[in-house]
Amino acid sequence: MQEKPISIYVHIPFCEKKCAYCAFNSFCASEKQKEECLDFLCKEIASRKVARPVATIYVGGGTPSVLTEEQIERVANAIYDNFDVYEDAEFTIEANPNSITENLLKKWKSLRVNRLSIGVQTLNERSLKQIGRLHDRKTALEKVKLARKFFANVSCDLIIGLEGQTEKDLCRDAKTLLELGVKHISCYLLEVYENTPLARMIANGKFLPLDEEQTISAFNKLATFLQDEGMTRYEISNFAFDGWESRHNLNYWARGEYLGFGLSAHSFLNGKRFQNAETLEKYSNGEVVEENLSAKEEDEERVMLGLRCNLGVDLSTIQTYDITQNAYFDEYLSQGILQRKGDRLFLNPLFWHVSNTIISNLLP
Ligand code: SF4
Repeated sequence: MQEKPISIYVHIPFCEKKCAYCAFNSFCASEKQKEECLDFLCKEIASRKVARPVATIYVGGGTPSVLTEEQIERVANAIYDNFDVYEDAEFTIEANPNSITENLLKKWKSLRVNRLSIGVQTLNERSLKQIGRLHDRKTALEKVKLARKFFANVSCDLIIGLEGQTEKDLCRDAKTLLELGVKHISCYLLEVYENTPLARMIANGKFLPLDEEQTISAFNKLATFLQDEGMTRYEISNFAFDGWESRHNLNYWARGEYLGFGLSAHSFLNGKRFQNAETLEKYSNGEVVEENLSAKEEDEERVMLGLRCNLGVDLSTIQTYDITQNAYFDEYLSQGILQRKGDRLFLNPLFWHVSNTIISNLLP
């Protein structure tokens, strides 16, 4: 019997410059550091091969588009040389507009990349400067257009909650991207992490993000707009035209297994979770931390992941408690907040914006 396929995630931790709001594990690296890190990454990929076919590959970061053509080729070849990748595998690369070039697009295509996720974030000139992005509106639009010449499957990220951002601005940005043929949009709420330049700007009164109510209202408006345009909201933050959903992310949400390579990358294989070390020194020493979830925690994860997307949760997989006995269960069903089809339970997308409260009420 054919082994169940897995996904592969590769973390490229380099960025040209840190954005003001960013708390990801990414940094500005010298060429020497990049080469050393890639040497280790390729060795790591070769050392962890498993006899499972690969259905999706996702190179994220950081900014994978800062890798040269030779560097990304090394990474892709390390995967192809060591794994049995399906011919029709989904292969996504994350890119920032300013580092996309025609030569890179051609190289990605030759490496069987077939999906791009572009960090546009906003098309507002002032906001782009405030949050420290390297591109301006014109570059974003030119690069999305260029990317579309080579790739049918292009996704763009948008951030919600920026200073002065109106519902109209957001929908206009989304409309502009859709007019360029973008098939998928990921919408993220602006989060303010401690010790970031953005947190200091806010503390000094130099940046005034939207408040919670304005942010939620803007998100809801954008969600309605995107759905009116024919997209499906298939996960809280993700919208796609039919058939253009991210197969890689769907695998995560379905609790499918995956191998993560690179600094701080997570893996879930043969029922075990583990994470690579978060510092370069420990990572290059091959340090890995095992994460042991109890059966109850696994069930909680099933509920949390399944109810936040249109996959729903398969009640027959929940082993440690009976969610149907929860005090809120019947009430949510009768109010149409929860929907049940056989063994599968869904959270009505109209209530996704309050999913945190609903899900925490449903957990034991
Ligand atoms: S490009 Fe992305 S990962 Fe890099 S600093 Fe900006 S937000 Fe963080």
